[in-house]
Amino acid sequence: MERKRVYLCLAHMSGKEMDYIKEAFDTNWVVPLGPNVNGFEKDLEEFVGEEKRVVALSSGTSAVHLSLIACGVGAGDEVMVQSFTFCASSNPVKYLGATPVFVDSERDTWNMDPQLLDEAIADRVAKTGRKPKAIIVVYLYGMPAKISELLAVADKWNIPVIEDAAEGFGSSYKGQICGTFGRYGVLSFNGNKMITTSGGGALICPDDKAWNEIMFLATQARESYPYYQHEHIGYNYRLSNVCAGIGRGQMTVVSEHIAHHRHVHELYKQLFANVEGITVHDNATSDINSNFWLCTILLDEHLHVEGEEDVYAEVVSGAVGGAAGVTHAAKSAHTKLEPNRNVEAMRIALDKANVEARPLWKPMHRQPVYSDCPCYANGVSESLFKCGLCLPSGPCVSDEDVTYIVDVIKRAILH
Ligand SMILES: *Cc1c(COP(=O)(O)O)cnc(C)c1O
Repeated sequence: MERKRVYLCLAHMSGKEMDYIKEAFDTNWVVPLGPNVNGFEKDLEEFVGEEKRVVALSSGTSAVHLSLIACGVGAGDEVMVQSFTFCASSNPVKYLGATPVFVDSERDTWNMDPQLLDEAIADRVAKTGRKPKAIIVVYLYGMPAKISELLAVADKWNIPVIEDAAEGFGSSYKGQICGTFGRYGVLSFNGNKMITTSGGGALICPDDKAWNEIMFLATQARESYPYYQHEHIGYNYRLSNVCAGIGRGQMTVVSEHIAHHRHVHELYKQLFANVEGITVHDNATSDINSNFWLCTILLDEHLHVEGEEDVYAEVVSGAVGGAAGVTHAAKSAHTKLEPNRNVEAMRIALDKANVEARPLWKPMHRQPVYSDCPCYANGVSESLFKCGLCLPSGPCVSDEDVTYIVDVIKRAILH
């Protein structure tokens, strides 16, 4: 019998979600506001602490978009963005007609390099005579960035920080929850994140005033008249009360989910301890406490993997992992920057063994769509992209799955 496929991060329900959804139907709150949305926001505020206010939104991407608007970003402005990320960190900069300026990562956390950020801002000011309007820091795969050092740079230049904690929900730095350090913090509740609302997100706001402004923009920007009067361009970005019901159910198990991700990571670490050529990405210091949304490994470039000579022979059809939506047909088997052959061979070996694995995010400064944007690169994200692989880590991944996955990887290594 074929083994059941193991996915990167599948959603896992607590059992309480249906009760909240049923309540939404029973009370006829099937709209993008209502008791579940309010309740979910309260749950989130309690969870993140620091006296923050939270607006529940229809996606993490919309949270990035609104935070940029609230920081005053408009056409022609520049925004410093971590290059090593998913496209949703930088795409909203483009929605606004602004320009992302990409900053590379440091090796410890794989997130934005504070010193490089400082140099990059100085260079932007020298070249354009203007300061960038915001800084978007990402917690890649849940790993906290060196946020103290990044905030020091941001303070020096007096530029607001937006934390993209879409992957870092529940991670902490010196005991403080990620997403509460900057002016705004972005959360995502897409189907494969730490918790899910099927699709959804939230923006962590510093105070009531900011919260009001975000809520105003998220609900079509209406002025106080008995009729619809508009003096600003708004958005339809509020989370639905039905989806928020899923979120309330998920919040009852969020701590268990985070503990499970950390447990899975610990198990990978133990099982890979004596495997030469494989490094498990880990908290670099005791200040840093990742949620380990996805467990990531690096394959030494000299490691030989079964079938590596045959990879990239054919043009791929469809997205790796069967991602949602439609992908354009690939024009070629190769691009100018791709994972090493041994990494692709390992991905294929895992796929054949019914295990979903995925390369790391390809840095934005190497994406064709961003080829004309300024970038401050140091080679770190490119080298990580070439060597890295994400492994299944979600609440549905069992100890037995992890043992099996590590065995598949060991067997694929040629000695
Ligand atoms: C998932 C994700 C987002 C966007 O969240 P959605 O809810 O999918 O719109 C933003 N940034 C990063 C780094 C993400 O991984």
